[in-house]
Amino acid sequence: MSRYVCDENMCTGCMACKDICSQGAIAVIDSVKHYNAVIDENKCIECGKCGKVCQNASEPVVSKPVIWHQGWSKNQDTHESSTSGGLAAEIEKEFIRNGGAVCSCTFEDGRFKFRVVRSVEEVGIFRGSKYVKSNPTGVYREIKTLLERGEKVLFLGLPCQVAAVKKYCDAPNLYAVDIICHGTPSPSVLEHFLHSSGIDINDVSTISFRVKDYSRISDNAIRFAVPGIRDYYSYCFGKALDYTENCYICRYARLERVSDLTLGDAWGSELPVEVRKKGVSVALCQTPKGEKLLNNENLELMPIDLEKVLKANPQLSHPSKKPENWNSIMNDISNGIKLKKIIRKNYPKLYYKNILKTILNKVGLYPRKKTRMNPIFLTIEKERI
Ligand SMILES: Cc1cc2nc3c(=O)[nH]c(=O)nc-3n(C[C@H](O)[C@H](O)[C@H](O)COP(=O)(O)OP(=O)(O)OC[C@H]3O[C@@H](n4cnc5c(N)ncnc54)[C@H](O)[C@@H]3O)c2cc1C
Repeated sequence: MSRYVCDENMCTGCMACKDICSQGAIAVIDSVKHYNAVIDENKCIECGKCGKVCQNASEPVVSKPVIWHQGWSKNQDTHESSTSGGLAAEIEKEFIRNGGAVCSCTFEDGRFKFRVVRSVEEVGIFRGSKYVKSNPTGVYREIKTLLERGEKVLFLGLPCQVAAVKKYCDAPNLYAVDIICHGTPSPSVLEHFLHSSGIDINDVSTISFRVKDYSRISDNAIRFAVPGIRDYYSYCFGKALDYTENCYICRYARLERVSDLTLGDAWGSELPVEVRKKGVSVALCQTPKGEKLLNNENLELMPIDLEKVLKANPQLSHPSKKPENWNSIMNDISNGIKLKKIIRKNYPKLYYKNILKTILNKVGLYPRKKTRMNPIFLTIEKERI
């Protein structure tokens, strides 16, 4: 017998409950539609600790941004190799220089895990947005231990994960940064996409969901569509077609934030297009701790109009809209139908447009002008044996 820790549709998969459980009674179940914590009733001793750390069990504690900036890292390599402006990497490096430990998400052994690092060099493992659900199991306990020892810890993750860390172990020396989040598919959607392209995720050594500069893609990299068009994984992500159900009722997709500092893309920026193409981040600062994180001489920061940011970035006002055909799409994915076929069935116009663009690309006629930099598309590299 098993039951959910919170509500089946609400569970964000933050896994704080899994970390607190002394009986090992909680497991993650990835059903494509949901990525949920499930209790094994045979092991459960009804201590109630899982409910206490569940961020769904209470209203989120949020605050409105008091300061906002746009900007980027002054370090060219960090700027170029990050998803937007590279603020995340620069803030992480400075936090370590000031004696703290940093916890964020990395891709390792085919999984999107969290790690705690203490050296500036190691921060590189976090770089890049992973447009998929990550799994912070294990780090809650580790962060709590570090905080209890009096160490300073910076946690950077999705808003639901930040809420969970704060519920598990908020402390004056915990600094929390969240990212503006569009929503996330479960890892099995990505695995399904790769598998239907003949790739086992366990053989993947690096994965990138968004590439700013085509020249940075290595010769060994595999991409899944011709330049100028999105592969079907990225298309489904960008159009919010395949997120787990909780993402469409997300309580954190709003201007009021759970973190000290929020990072995102500076959509709505009025900087010249040539500057924006290089990647510009937005930073929304809610607390004095957030201000401290931004007080960093390696960041180039400037004002931005918050009204314009709000208009251009819907995730700051409401969650992504659940598509009407969500159930059918998710059932098809569960039944092993390729994303390509699912798009052909549900969005034939787009599908045939892509076929035409691919043919035009092969004869050198597409893209005619350089596509915008920073597009979302998937590239991977496989371990060389
Ligand atoms: C799933 C997802 C959806 C997003 N949707 C939007 C959006 O709608 N609007 C918007 O403005 N910005 C969105 N972003 C944020 C955007 O992609 C950039 O991360 C942000 O602009 C900061 O860029 P950066 O160059 O400073 O850092 P990046 O190079 O992007 O590094 C980001 C940091 O976030 C961590 N991270 C990356 N992926 C995950 C993950 N899956 N789970 C937990 N932590 C992760 C990394 O470990 C790293 O520390 C999203 C990010 C993600 C991961």
